[in-house]
Amino acid sequence: MDILEKTLRMLEKYPLCDHCLGRQFALLGHGMGNDERGKSVKSVLAFQAHEDSLSKDRDGVKVLKVLATNGFSETAKQILAKMKKRVPRKAFPKTCFLCEGKFMVFEDLARKALKLLEELEYSNFLVGVELPMKTEEREDEFKAEFEVSHGESMRNEFGRVIGKRLAELNGKTVEFKKPEIVVLVGPFAESVRLAVNPLFVSGRYKKLVRGIPQSKWFCSNCHGKGCEKCNWTGKMYHESVEELIEEPFLEATGGTKASFHASGREDIDARMLGPGRPFVVEATAPKKRFLDLRRLEDSVNAHAKGKVEVSRLKFADKDAVRRLKKGESNQKEYRVTIEFDDKITVKDLRLLKEKLTNAMIKQQTPRRVLHRRADLTREKYIYDVRVKKLSPRKAEMKVRCQGGLYVKELVSGDEGRTTPNVSELLNNKAKPVKLDVLNVIMGD
Ligand SMILES: [Zn+2]
Ligand SMILES: [Zn+2]
Repeated sequence: MDILEKTLRMLEKYPLCDHCLGRQFALLGHGMGNDERGKSVKSVLAFQAHEDSLSKDRDGVKVLKVLATNGFSETAKQILAKMKKRVPRKAFPKTCFLCEGKFMVFEDLARKALKLLEELEYSNFLVGVELPMKTEEREDEFKAEFEVSHGESMRNEFGRVIGKRLAELNGKTVEFKKPEIVVLVGPFAESVRLAVNPLFVSGRYKKLVRGIPQSKWFCSNCHGKGCEKCNWTGKMYHESVEELIEEPFLEATGGTKASFHASGREDIDARMLGPGRPFVVEATAPKKRFLDLRRLEDSVNAHAKGKVEVSRLKFADKDAVRRLKKGESNQKEYRVTIEFDDKITVKDLRLLKEKLTNAMIKQQTPRRVLHRRADLTREKYIYDVRVKKLSPRKAEMKVRCQGGLYVKELVSGDEGRTTPNVSELLNNKAKPVKLDVLNVIMGD
C-alpha cells in the first residue's frame, strides 16, 4: 500500500496531528521533523483531492473533509471554504488520537525545564520521557493495525523534540552516554523534574597523625542517634579522613550528600604517608560542577590542616570507583616498629629478612576484625622485607607486600592465625607498636 493510501486510511479512522502522522513514517526521508513529514503528506493528499473535486470526482470532496477534520489541515479547510462546501461543526475532533495534543505543549515543557536548570552548573543533559502506559499501548495497537514499519515511538520523538528545543534555549549539548543531568519530562502529566547525576573527584590523601579513622565511625552504644557516651555526636571519633575531605567538597559543590571511596584503608592508629592513598569522593546532586580543583585542594588542606592532606585532584567518573576497588590488592608498602620481649641480635634480623622476603603468608582473618569480616584464610605475598635495629628490644621493619595483608598480625602471629610470623620465626614475642603506610602502588 502506498504512503498516501495508508495515510488516508489512518485519517478516516483516527484524528492525527502532524507529529503523530509523520512519526509513522519517521525513518523515511531525512533532514526534517515528523511534524513537517506529516504536514507534507497531508498537503499532497489535499492537492490530489482538490484536483479530483475540480474534475467533479465526488471522492475529492470526501477526502478534503477527512483532511479538514481528522487531519486538522488548514489547507483542506480553505479549499472547502472556497468551494462553499460546509463541514458540520461536530465533525471536528477535539484532539489527536495518539498524543491528545501534547505535542502542542512541548515548548512549555522545555521552558519549565530551563527554569529548573537555572540554578545548576552543567554542560550537558539528556531528556527522559515518562508516558502513561495506556498511551504507549494505544500507539502499539495503532502501529499493528496499520502495519507501520518505518515509524518511531512517541517517547523517542518527545525526547528529541524537547531536547533539541532545550539545547537551543540553554546552549548546552545533549549527551546520550553520560549526561550530567537527566531532565525527566511527562508530557501528559505536564511535569518536569531533574535527576542530577553525581560528580566524582579523585585524588590521593595522606593521614599525617594517628588516631583518626578513615571513615565515619558510629557510636557503638547509640548507633548514630547520639547519647551520653558519645557526647551526643553519634560518633566514636570526633573526625575521620572521610569527613575532613567531604566537608569542603560538599561546600564547593552544593551537593546534598557525599560518599567516600578509597583503595583499602589504614588502621586508626596507622599513618598514611608517602604519595598518599588513592580515593574518589562523590557528591550527590551537585549544584556546582565547574570546580577549581586547585582551590578545592587548598580548602581541604586548610580545613584538615596537620591531619589530612590531599593532592592530585582530578575530575573522575563512576569507573574510577570500580578501578579503586579492583586495585585494592595492588602492592602496599608499610613501616612497622616492633617491640620484642627478649633482646634481639643482628642474626635475628637477617633471619627475618631471609624468611619473609618472597614468602607466601597464610593469614586467617585477624581476631580484631572478625566482627566485620568473614572468617577466611587468605594467602598474601611479600615481595620485600628490610629490617633495622633501633635498640636492644626494638626494630623497624619495612614490608612491601600484596594489598590486604594485615601487617600487625604478621608481627604478632595473632595466636597462630598468621603463619609464618615474626614472633614465631624468632621464638621471641613481638608486638607492633607503630605502623605507617608508606605507599599504595596503583597503576595511575
Ligand atoms: Zn498527535
Ligand atoms: Zn552514642
